[in-house]
Amino acid sequence: MLCERCGKNEAVTRIQHLHSDGSLEEVYLCESCANLEEENKIQAFNELALSFLSMLDGNKVVAGETSGKKQLVCDSCGLDFDTFRKTNRAGCSDCYDAFYEQILQAAKQVQGGHAKHVGKVPAAFVAESEREERIFALREQIQKMIELENFEEAARLRDEIRSLEGKAGEEE
Ligand SMILES: [Zn+2]
Ligand SMILES: [Zn+2]
Repeated sequence: MLCERCGKNEAVTRIQHLHSDGSLEEVYLCESCANLEEENKIQAFNELALSFLSMLDGNKVVAGETSGKKQLVCDSCGLDFDTFRKTNRAGCSDCYDAFYEQILQAAKQVQGGHAKHVGKVPAAFVAESEREERIFALREQIQKMIELENFEEAARLRDEIRSLEGKAGEEE
């Protein structure tokens, strides 16, 4: 069969995308489209890692950077986690296997809202807690998407959290 992306070359590999709604998408790709897919995935991972790790900055140090702890290194390309944090460039597709625990840690630590507000009127308070619940659910989904290596979906969910946070700002 032909590649479902370019429709020109013979498909040689099957790629699965699991979406946050649980639906599974399968595409058959040729080698060059599969490589492109892999590249996009690394980029999505880089972008996601950057946003989560930058949210943590000034807050908490991600495990791996603390002195005395064993340095995390990607077995395939030799990139270490500190360098990855600084440059925010994964060296190869195995890097996210090596570092995703750290990204997951970062994602877990990212708080949905800012400091708790006090002195809200009841209606606003209800809205606030609903939003917090929603953000909590989104965070859980993000973790799942990272585990499934669906970084694009994780980034989309992260943007949803950001827009919820934006609404919090408007209410003030
Ligand atoms: Zn193709
Ligand atoms: Zn690597």
